[in-house]
This record gives sequence, structure tokens and C-alpha cells, in this order.
Amino acid sequence: MAEEKKQPRIGVFVCHCGTNIAGTIDVESVKDYAATLPNVIVADDYQYMCSTPGQAKIIDAIKDHDLTGIVVAACTPRLHEPTFRTATKEGGLNPFRFEMANIRDQNSWVHMHDPEGATAKAKDAIRIAAAKASLLEDLYPKSVPVEHAAMVVGAGVGGIQAALDLANAGIKTYLVEKNPTVGGRMSQLDKTFPTLDCSQCILTPKMVDVGRHPNIELHTYTEVESVDGYIGNFDITLRKKARGVMSQDEATAKGIVGGGCNGCGDCAAACPVIKPNPFEFGMAPRKAIYIFHPQVVPLVYTIDFDACVKCGLCVEACGEKKAIDLEMTDTFETVKVGTVILSTGYDMFEIEKKREWGYKQFDNVITSLEFERLICASGPTGGHLIRPSDGETPMKVAFVLCAGSRDNTGVGKPYCSRFCCMYSLKHAHQIMEKIPGCQPYIFYMDIRSFGKMYEEFYYRIQNEGAKFIRGRVANVLEDAKTKNLHVYAEDTLLGRPVDLEVDMVVLAAAVQPTENIDPVRKMFGVSCSQDGWMLEAHPKLNPCGTTTAGVFLAGVCQGPKDIPDTVAQAEGAASAASIPIHTGKVELEPYFAQCLEEKCAGCGMCISQCPYSALDLIEKDGKQVMHVTEAKCKGCGTCGGFCPGGAIYMQHFTTPQIVAQIDAFLLGGEQ
Ligand SMILES: Cc1cc2nc3c(=O)[nH]c(=O)nc-3n(C[C@H](O)[C@H](O)[C@H](O)COP(=O)(O)OP(=O)(O)OC[C@H]3O[C@@H](n4cnc5c(N)ncnc54)[C@H](O)[C@@H]3O)c2cc1C
Ligand code: SF4
Ligand code: SF4
Repeated sequence: MAEEKKQPRIGVFVCHCGTNIAGTIDVESVKDYAATLPNVIVADDYQYMCSTPGQAKIIDAIKDHDLTGIVVAACTPRLHEPTFRTATKEGGLNPFRFEMANIRDQNSWVHMHDPEGATAKAKDAIRIAAAKASLLEDLYPKSVPVEHAAMVVGAGVGGIQAALDLANAGIKTYLVEKNPTVGGRMSQLDKTFPTLDCSQCILTPKMVDVGRHPNIELHTYTEVESVDGYIGNFDITLRKKARGVMSQDEATAKGIVGGGCNGCGDCAAACPVIKPNPFEFGMAPRKAIYIFHPQVVPLVYTIDFDACVKCGLCVEACGEKKAIDLEMTDTFETVKVGTVILSTGYDMFEIEKKREWGYKQFDNVITSLEFERLICASGPTGGHLIRPSDGETPMKVAFVLCAGSRDNTGVGKPYCSRFCCMYSLKHAHQIMEKIPGCQPYIFYMDIRSFGKMYEEFYYRIQNEGAKFIRGRVANVLEDAKTKNLHVYAEDTLLGRPVDLEVDMVVLAAAVQPTENIDPVRKMFGVSCSQDGWMLEAHPKLNPCGTTTAGVFLAGVCQGPKDIPDTVAQAEGAASAASIPIHTGKVELEPYFAQCLEEKCAGCGMCISQCPYSALDLIEKDGKQVMHVTEAKCKGCGTCGGFCPGGAIYMQHFTTPQIVAQIDAFLLGGEQ
């Protein structure tokens, strides 16, 4: 005998949220109103519903009043829905018999100057929620198995750290890097603040570790081509770009015994093509066959096919190693992983767009990254800081902070780039240390030295003799004869104009998301903030996660941060990404589409509408019916709205539930 459907018995609980809600909304009258609504058996209120006593009220009420549905009117479901679902379950109900009315974010906060209106709106919200709660059904999450492998995209210090953590946790990890070597921006830096350790010295061991870790499969010179699947089961196709040179492993696989690139550099010595070296910002030459720097991982040469004239001299020089293949083409490989970490870093803002500072107009105006290369012992000048115009040693250097950052003119970036204050202090120290008598002038808006030992570093540079001028630089002009530069600004502390003649200007240019990152971001279903940085699931409670289950973020791709913060986030992301893998399965919210097979005509029209490729047709009892891959379905409802035969229903958002909500709103509870 079919079980008799119980008459709905709803409990409504109104939260004060301290004064967040109760400061605007008349909670008492809202509660009294809730008690009058159809099917509402009990209505109560409490200071903090999310607290233990608040939750106890729900648990007790379910048992005492034999409730069938719960409504909590409080803050955002994003924050507290799981808490109240758990309480609902502890009371003995199916957790999906819970509905939330957001009377804080969507009401008391936005209507704080209209208490009467806010109170009326809260009543509406609760009436609507109670109408839906009356029709809620038991739902059961499904589990899907999780592949015991992860992928990290981007091998800067963030990606390297995340990959090492995953690999050390016993997880097979694919590390994908678009450049021919791992290392990212950190390998372009000389020393790192505030400890002044040599950047390469602390990075190289980690680079070497990822290169030889048994659990890491390194794919350099590789990009993500396409992504299919869902948490636990991502199928990711990689494009391995034609490098023109085979590693020793690749040569062995092709049966070239003892062959493959050993990094000897004979090919580059023979190559006749000379081009500017992008790693050195064009301040040094590079052959068409090249490595970025001596510490590259893997130590395999790469051919720049845009520059290569295919003369074959490198092939000849390479000889018996037979590493070079001038006809090499891109290859593709699909791998399956359970979770993914994006760590694609940043690019520099095109500071020449700010015409007033003269970059690319005046030889002696350089960017901070160019400064890093010029002061670096392995850089194009062997670590001698020189003026690009004449090779002379500069004795007066101006550092322009917030160059394009904290700039609301529409040309620059409104945000703080977060590490330029600190690296400019580092740069000031480096010139005073390397060039006795060299005077740094730091033009700043405020110095943001917020990290551990950073403020102490700031004092240290002050004591060493750097001069600080508070004020945004208006413009920089060149003395055409001497190639010296005049820096014009207002000293806002002394309230007087500044015209300072210096030998060189270093622009602490803003940073911005990596160029062409949007297609990659979209392939993984990750949103971005207004500024283009990848968006975390919650800035405080889930800073490593994204709204796509199983996809996590590490490093500057999520927003400017220095190396310690990048590494810390990478460790967090690795930990978060390893949890589903170690658990072996993930639970899916049961908000997926379902097909009423008796109504389905098998027309397949819904298939083309689904943005997540979750639908296909299968044969059942001799007819074609729509089938949902539940793990792929995001419950967006597009198919349900589209189906001409009304054969699709959305769990937890059924048509009767939505109609009841609309009626409750329009009819004011009179249905
Ligand atoms: C001038 C300057 C000086 C600095 N000095 C310091 C300092 O002294 N101390 C400090 O703490 N911080 C310093 N920083 C900040 C430091 O550079 C960053 O904190 C750090 O590099 C961030 O690492 P990341 O891994 O997030 O990004 P990145 O270093 O940018 O690495 C990202 C990697 O992802 C790769 N990638 C991008 N897109 C893709 C894709 N689609 N597919 C595959 N791979 C991709 C890139 O090629 C790159 O290798 C400095 C920055 C600048 C500009
Ligand atoms: S074939 Fe290309 S990479 Fe090789 S030597 Fe000639 S130009 Fe250089
Ligand atoms: S870190 Fe300093 S220089 Fe850079 S944008 Fe922020 S305040 Fe300006």
C-alpha cells in the first residue's frame, strides 16, 4: 500500500543576527505573522539561529511538533545553509526539507533606512519560503568516485609548491606549464625581500624536485586544450607544443639509444639566428634555439619556430644525440584527474600606456622587472646596474611606486599591486649596497609594509639613507643632451613642488592577470572579479576554492600577492584538492534534472540547450529517452524550461514548488 502523504507541518525560525537583522526588522511581528501562515505549526525567533542553542530550537521543534519542513529566515544560504541542513537532519528530517529566507543580505542590510518596508519584505520572504517548504521532498545526494590524480596548471612558485605538496601526499600530479621551463616570475628575480635571499637559490631546489619527483608528470611547453567532466573525473586534453627538441626520455621512447638533449648547448652555438631575449626583456640576445636560463627544468633546448630559418646547423651540431626534429608538430594527450589547481600567475601592466612617465620614450626609464634583470648576477650585465642610454653607472635613481596601481583614471588599475612597495625598498637597498654613494629616491603614496618583518625592513632602508618623497609623480621628462631625467611631483608632506634630476627612473608597474587567460579560466568554469583576477569561492571562508567543484586557485592568478602568501595559498589549495582524492568519492548536491520517461518524446532538443553537456539520449524499453549524467548537471534548469513536452523536472526546484512560491507572493498567503 502506498504511504499516505502527510499534511505539511512547517516550523519557521527568525534570526536576529544580533542587530544585523533585528536592528532594522521588527522580528517579533515577523514571527507572529509567520505563525499565521498556511501549514506553519510553530514559529520562533532567536538572537543567533546558527549558534548551538539556535540549532537546538530546530532539532527540538522537529521532534516536539512532528514537523515536515523547516524555514530559517536569517543571513545568506551560502554561509549557513549547510549548518541548518545538518540541524534539520539531526532533528530526524531529510536535510533537503530545509528552506532559507535571506532577510539579512537581501533585506535588513539594503533597506536599513526603511524599517517598515524591510519588515514587510521579510514577511513576504518567509511566506514564499514556507510555501515552498510545504512541497519539499526527501532528496538523496549521489556519490561519484574520484580519480587518484590531480593537475596543476602553471608552474611558477605557486604551482610548483602545490604540485610538490600533492605529490608528497602520494597523489599522481600532472604539472602543466606553457613556457619551456618551470619557475615563473620568481626565476626572473634577483633577491627576495625582506630576507634578501637569492631568488634562484631558494627556487632552484624546488624546480629540481618537481623535475624528478616520481609522482609528478611534468608537461612543460604545454597548454590546456580542452576540459570535459566534473569533480572527480575531469578529462583534460593537453596540447604539447612542438619544441623541436626531444628530451632523453622522448628519444629513448623513439628508439634513439643514448640520444636526446643533454643541454650541452652545441646547437645554440651553431645557430646563426639572433633575436632579442624576452626573458631579459630584450636586453640580451637569444638564438633561435635556446634555454631561458642555466637552471631551467627540464634542461632541454627549445626552438623558436617563428625565428628559425631551418638551416639545419643545429641538427648537424647536435650530431649523434639526434635530439632535434625541425619538422616536429604539436601533439595531444588526454589525462584524467580528480581535482585541478590553477596557478597561472600574472603579467606586468603595459606601463607605456601611462605616457606621462616616459617608458619606451626615454632610454633611462625602466620597469622594476627590468631592474631585477639588470641587478642580477646572471642577468644581461652580470649584475652591474647601468643606464641603458650610455652604460654609465647611475648615481641618482628615482623609484616611482603605484605606477599604474591604485589608479582610477581609467588608464591604470584601481587595485594595489601589493608587492611593489616592498620590492622597491629592496631595490633601494640593492643600489646602495652595490654602488657606494648611489642615492635612491622613493616616490610613494603610502608604504604598505604589512608582512612579517616587512615594517622592520622599511626602517632598515630608511636608516641606510634612502630618501622618501610622498606624492604621486606627475610626469618625467628627459634632458635630451645628458639623457638625465627630471621627475616632477608634489611633495604632499612638505606641500611644495618637486623637480628632481636623476640618472635613471624605475617604474614599479602594476600587475595584471596573465594575458589570454580567459579561455583557460572559462574551460574550467572559473569566474573572474571585475579586475580579471580569478574569483575564489568565498574571500574569507574558501579563499582557495572556486564555484566549480574540484577546481582550486593558488598564487597571483587570484590576486596580487608576494611569494610567502603565494606559497601559503598553494599549500592550502593542495590540501583542499587532496581531500576528495583521499576520500575517494564526492557527494553531489541532488539538484539535478530528472526525466519523466513516460512524457519524453525522445526529440533530443534539450541536448543542444544544456551548457554542461549533461544530457544524451538512451534507448529504454524500445524507445529513446533523455538521460542525465547527474555528476555533470549543475541544476541550471535550462533543459527543464526548454522541453516542449514538460518531461523534465528539476529536483528541489520543481514546477509545483516554484508556482507555490509565485502564488504565495502574488496572493499574499490567500491561496
Ligand atoms: C619586480 C618584481 C619583484 C618582486 N620581488 C619579490 C620579492 O622580493 N619577494 C616576494 O615575495 N615577491 C616578489 N615579487 C612577487 C612574485 O613575483 C610573485 O609573488 C610570485 O612570482 C607569484 O608566483 P605565481 O606562481 O603565483 O605566479 P608566476 O610566477 O607568474 O607563475 C605563473 C606560471 O604560470 C604559467 N602560466 C600562465 N598561464 C598559463 C597557462 N595558460 N597554461 C600553463 N601555464 C601557464 C606562467 O608561464 C608561469 O610560469 C616580485 C614581483 C615583481 C614584479
Ligand atoms: S635550424 Fe633553426 S634553431 Fe637550428 S640552427 Fe638553424 S635557425 Fe637555429
Ligand atoms: S604595493 Fe605599494 S606601490 Fe604597489 S600598488 Fe600597492 S601601494 Fe602602490
